[in-house]
Amino acid sequence: LPFIGQKVKQGDPLYCVVDTVTGKPNITRHKSSEPAYIDEVRVMDPGGISGIGGSGPSGPLQRVSIKLRYNRNPVIGDKFSSRHGQKGVMSQLWPACDMPFSENGMVPDIMFNPHGFPSRMTIGMLIESMAGKAGAQHGIFQDATPFQFSEKNTAIDHFGHQLVKAGYHYYGSETLYSGMLGVEFEARIFMGVVYYQRLRHMVSDKFQVRSMGPVNAYTRQPVKGRKMGGGIRFGEMERDAMIAHGTSYLLHDRLMNSSDSHKMVVCKKCGQLLSSLVAPPRRSDATRSARAFCVYCQSGEHCVVVKLPFVFRYLSSELAAMNIRMSLGIEDLLED
Ligand SMILES: [Zn+2]
Repeated sequence: LPFIGQKVKQGDPLYCVVDTVTGKPNITRHKSSEPAYIDEVRVMDPGGISGIGGSGPSGPLQRVSIKLRYNRNPVIGDKFSSRHGQKGVMSQLWPACDMPFSENGMVPDIMFNPHGFPSRMTIGMLIESMAGKAGAQHGIFQDATPFQFSEKNTAIDHFGHQLVKAGYHYYGSETLYSGMLGVEFEARIFMGVVYYQRLRHMVSDKFQVRSMGPVNAYTRQPVKGRKMGGGIRFGEMERDAMIAHGTSYLLHDRLMNSSDSHKMVVCKKCGQLLSSLVAPPRRSDATRSARAFCVYCQSGEHCVVVKLPFVFRYLSSELAAMNIRMSLGIEDLLED
């Protein structure tokens, strides 16, 4: 078993089980490429599942729980939230020297857009901010019992008086100075103390990359899922948007070239996809080129190469299995 607080990197042993029959040790290692710390090791239920079928309280260990802790600094794209459901994604990460500062040199940790408040009606966060600021100034704990305030005796007045007593503006707003220019901001800015927590949606778990990669065996389209190195679906709505913008070349690139583009031989005469065969080049053929041949028409002279999405061929095969024939009407391009 590992020591608590021990740092484990990829490939480091986590725990070891000794096989009592063969006497061989079996080591399990840390799989993730991200280093972790051992947070907790719990020896669980030495007697098996509540003593039943186990080897008694003094028997050998049956189960052990190892908790890992990953240290992750906040990066752009991580999600944070206050206790009022005011959640958001960090979009900028500034050095403290570029942040605005107050008269007594305080620098905010988080800045956010006030337009997030009217529609979400999270007044509680503003009140928490005022209460937190007043409490921090006076060194007191605030009473957060519900239904203590009324229309006549509002929370804003209660904490406003405390803030005034601490030398602040009634609503807790103060003059800030630009961290980049050092000049005073024209507007007074509301700054206070709010409890924030990090939500477990982090970019390092979510980002997707793909250039070439695994494809589905049936459709030959890129697979889905981040773990498998799949693509991000370009769905119907995205397709509609492309059509609306008239970007047909880009649409073709997404749906064909970057997906399941496939060249196949189709017979122009009967229009069938599946009847055409590609025979290996004849040994006597000097050009050594593969010859297409239509089984249905018993000739190869009408066969042409067409570029199609591979799923189309798959659809055609599935329909053929249900006794439905699909034929293409192929015409030559008119030369002008
Ligand atoms: Zn044919």
